[in-house]
Amino acid sequence: MKKNLMLQILIAFILAIIVGSIFGSKATVVQPLGDLFLRLIKFIIVPLILSTIIVGVTGAGGIKKLGSIGGKTVLYFLVTSLAAISIGLLAGFVFSPGTGTDVVLEGGAAETVTSDGVITTLLNIIPTNPIEALTSGAVLQIIFFAIFLGVGITLVGEKGKPVQDFFEGLAEVMYKITGIIMKLVPIGVFGLLAPIVGTYGLPVLLPLIKVIIAMLVAVIIHVAITYSLAVKTLGKMSPNQFLKGIFPAASVAFATCSSSGTLPVTMKNVQENLGVSKETSSFVLPLGATINMDGTAIYMGIAVMFIAQYFGESLSFSQILIVALMGTLASIGAAGVPGAGLIMLTMVLTAVNLPLEGIALIAGIDRVLDMLRTSVNIMGDASACVVVESSLGNKQLIVEENSSTIS
Ligand code: ASP
Repeated sequence: MKKNLMLQILIAFILAIIVGSIFGSKATVVQPLGDLFLRLIKFIIVPLILSTIIVGVTGAGGIKKLGSIGGKTVLYFLVTSLAAISIGLLAGFVFSPGTGTDVVLEGGAAETVTSDGVITTLLNIIPTNPIEALTSGAVLQIIFFAIFLGVGITLVGEKGKPVQDFFEGLAEVMYKITGIIMKLVPIGVFGLLAPIVGTYGLPVLLPLIKVIIAMLVAVIIHVAITYSLAVKTLGKMSPNQFLKGIFPAASVAFATCSSSGTLPVTMKNVQENLGVSKETSSFVLPLGATINMDGTAIYMGIAVMFIAQYFGESLSFSQILIVALMGTLASIGAAGVPGAGLIMLTMVLTAVNLPLEGIALIAGIDRVLDMLRTSVNIMGDASACVVVESSLGNKQLIVEENSSTIS
């Protein structure tokens, strides 16, 4: 049954390619199947994050332990994001996708995204109204609220027990619902991908094929080197096992282009296939889905190089350093929703004075690049779970080759 899911997802991929290629844009008739799945996974996100984080904090063995998980997680996120953008810049340099391209620039300049400044951004993490944070799905605010609730429950002791029991029950229920929805992954993948294959024909992709190839190669390098090394040396898990375990979530990320939307599936995979505890995963994953985007960082590097080459601008060493820094910040600031990376790219372009019109150049193929970057984004979060969990001395991590554990 569990192995079946992987097979079913693969069949869904193949069917989507066949249906999309045969029916072209008419394949959009199956879109409602994709939307159905998307709505189902989205509706569990807020209660899932809230309840699992509270359970994570109350069960984490104290605030000190939580601090240590938090510190390690953020450090890992930063190091891998920097590795990602470096690989992206390198791929952009080696493949030179912007030279000799015959893409014609249409449309005006994109509007710049300006950041609110570090202090305001940090202050905004504290919700003035937690209920509003829940209804609007502001993930960082929900995380903040949940951590504080968890800390409060722990400090209150006996009287806080009913609240703790309630959220423990809610978390179990949300895991159960996630399990039910997971059965629909193949249908969702098919419903989302077939229309995309149908709409993005070769004429759309061909002029920018070098960008797509550069992205693909960079993504493979990042997964094969950065993640494999991390899970193997720091997480003591075989990279093969890691990739197999996270495959369903990566497929959902590929099809939905939303790491926040994929969160329930990522959580299920990480806990059941990789043996990461609920405490660690319920803290690392929601945070990662919001601020850790290695795929987006890779994309920033390639896109900036592409746009600079297209306009015949050469970047100095200090400008490249600025791109690395701003690209990492932009990937942190990007929301886990489709197309967020493209919007954040304006921030990086502005920082190095590149024309914002460049956005229009790659907007046409952004969906395809988004599929790749979102899959990497969730893999990065999952690898963080494995590494952090192992550093806490968890022996339950599934380190042996055992395909029967794939779900
Ligand atoms: N779609 C990506 C995600 O959800 C963000 C991006 O556009 O780069 O992770």
